[in-house]
Amino acid sequence: MRKKLNIVLFGPPGAGKGTQSEFMIKRYKLVHLSTGDLLRAEKDAETPLGLQAQELMSNGLLVADDIVIGMIRNALHAHNKAKGFIFDGFPRTQAQAEALDELLSALGEEISMMLALEVPEEESVARLLKRGATSGRSDDKDETVIRKRIRIYEEETAPVKRYYQDKGKYTGIDGLGSIEDITARLAKAIG
Ligand code: AMP
Repeated sequence: MRKKLNIVLFGPPGAGKGTQSEFMIKRYKLVHLSTGDLLRAEKDAETPLGLQAQELMSNGLLVADDIVIGMIRNALHAHNKAKGFIFDGFPRTQAQAEALDELLSALGEEISMMLALEVPEEESVARLLKRGATSGRSDDKDETVIRKRIRIYEEETAPVKRYYQDKGKYTGIDGLGSIEDITARLAKAIG
């Protein structure tokens, strides 16, 4: 039986992970797991977890590892018939990457590849401010918060690339150009 396709879609805030996930969900019939979306749903439902995460999110800070790992654990079990997953915005720390490997390995699965969208900082900031004008996401409206998210990405999240590079699972993708061009680059990398 063919192994499931489990993709980590990586990149700084504003790299286009959400946009490109939509194509991958359709084409490969994968389940999209975005910890940002899951946290925003908790926040909108005003659950204790959502209320706890809210302040960190609006300041552009990371939510605790055990919280996001717990959400991913629940989602993996809830979708145990899936053909595979796209992890979007997760893992964001080395501890999350290690936990993801353990969770998948307990299910007899593994990460197939990390596809990392590469976008320069000024492009990320411009895209996020544009999205902030219509998305209703408060963390996309304030340039100071946007730049802080990018700093945190560089300091805490970018090192996660190394984790997948060491396993031979990393592919960098040029994230500049039209949505269709970037989709084509991703499709080529998936093969
Ligand atoms: P995103 O939608 O991926 O841009 O995430 C929005 C916000 O949710 C981030 O700025 C963090 O505050 C929080 N968040 C999302 N995913 C994670 C994660 N894997 N680890 C920690 N915090 C996260």
